[in-house]
Amino acid sequence: MSDSGIVHVIGAGLAGLAAAVRLTEAGRRVALYEQAPQAGGRCRSFHDPALGRSIDNGNHMVLSGNRTLLDYARKTGGADALKELRPAAFPFLDLRDGRTWTLRPGGLWLFDPGRRVPGSRPLDYLAALRCLTAGRHHSVADRLPTSGPLFEPLWRPLAVSALNGPVERISARLFGAVLRETLLRGEAACRPVLAPRGLSDAFVDPALACLRTAGAALHLGARVDGLTVEHDRITSFSAGGSAVSLSPADSMILATPAWVAERLLPGLTVPPPGPAIVNLHIQLDGPAGLPGGLPFVGLVGGMAEWLFLRDDLLSVTISDADALANLPAEEIAGRLWAEIAPHLRPAPRLGATIPPFRVVKERRATPDQSSDSVARRPETRTRWSNLMLAGDWTETGLPATLEAAVRSGNRAAQATLSNGNNPIRRSRVFPAFTSFRHRPIWTDGGAVLARPGPEGQSKKRG
Ligand SMILES: Cc1cc2nc3c(=O)[nH]c(=O)nc-3n(C[C@H](O)[C@H](O)[C@H](O)COP(=O)(O)OP(=O)(O)OC[C@H]3O[C@@H](n4cnc5c(N)ncnc54)[C@H](O)[C@@H]3O)c2cc1C
Repeated sequence: MSDSGIVHVIGAGLAGLAAAVRLTEAGRRVALYEQAPQAGGRCRSFHDPALGRSIDNGNHMVLSGNRTLLDYARKTGGADALKELRPAAFPFLDLRDGRTWTLRPGGLWLFDPGRRVPGSRPLDYLAALRCLTAGRHHSVADRLPTSGPLFEPLWRPLAVSALNGPVERISARLFGAVLRETLLRGEAACRPVLAPRGLSDAFVDPALACLRTAGAALHLGARVDGLTVEHDRITSFSAGGSAVSLSPADSMILATPAWVAERLLPGLTVPPPGPAIVNLHIQLDGPAGLPGGLPFVGLVGGMAEWLFLRDDLLSVTISDADALANLPAEEIAGRLWAEIAPHLRPAPRLGATIPPFRVVKERRATPDQSSDSVARRPETRTRWSNLMLAGDWTETGLPATLEAAVRSGNRAAQATLSNGNNPIRRSRVFPAFTSFRHRPIWTDGGAVLARPGPEGQSKKRG
């Protein structure tokens, strides 16, 4: 192993995991600290005792155009737990009148009425290009014709679910980035990629296994606090109540959510928290089908926005859902069930009570993604020479998504590696600045301080 020090990665969401994996690949010693008893952060599965099965904290829509995320899954072995739907297709259902259509992007799709939104013309789609040239302060509603035939059936649902906020607020530039990385790159970049066995099986557990094999020290249930800064370096912190000192060769990647990073490093500029995302998981009596015949369907004209089906587990997702999240779980479930039940195949008996369910309210599901908030995203490198930032809230040019999280983690790892090779940056690290007052908790090779509890981490229920 090299003498280039330990990289302390704080936070085991996808940003922290991706950074840790990249660093161990490069032969660096890594210690990963996660405050929750399980890794994954905002992308995780957990056992739900009421339903008697594993569920995800929320449905995650991944597309084949999320190249960095899928590379990470391939590299860690998680890709075996993913299923790509080919050819790309997005079924939609209008909850008001039961009308269905399927968007089938790719090739000359715009010239085939059967592959477009009913009533739309090819020219209507070109309006989306205005998001690619949007100014820094434009919202999605500023750039797209809100009265056009595509706004309600297509642009609004896509933008609200990709950026978790109202169209009058969320950044048109970020929505432009989604279009650039998916729809504009053709069918091969638009295929939905699902995780039929759950998010952790695909994106979390394989990465942890790779890190253990590589000898990384995994500290789950170890909340990091009390960063000490001396001159331009982080010199110590506390993890799970124990003090950790950084040697001159050590560095840190802070991959917590933005609001935690701001608390740990007063003066850091970060975007404020954004709205909640609410998920309702329903355990059906048996296998069912969705309109459109695929394992998911987009919904317009109601409260529910996306419906996913995994065998007999039906899940409903609503983004930008602060108001909904304030209601009791029973009320949320009752309202959503009344909307969707008539459209299931086979349809439940009229007036049938809702089957067993679980509501998961993820408050602050993403950072706020208005233009003003996006301008507050920090870069990977900081003014502290041995500290890099990672997370979906850092400057990636993308909405706060899994793709952004993994890209940010890779960038932070890369910046850390090039720091080690850069004599100018290294020469700024003086041993005299380093405090060895604290008892280190470094444990060699894959030590796990605490194992996940039976119910997973702080799931937020109504
Ligand atoms: C319900 C829901 C639905 C979503 N849907 C989609 C989707 O369809 N598609 C998509 O691409 N993205 C989606 N997202 C967004 C995606 O989940 C996030 O962008 C991504 O998971 C963020 O990863 P991260 O590593 O940046 O942050 P996090 O996952 O938040 O990871 C940060 C980690 O730091 C830990 N931590 C916090 N404080 C400390 C501390 N003091 N010490 C140690 N550890 C600490 C946290 O516990 C957490 O594990 C969704 C998010 C939610 C909540």
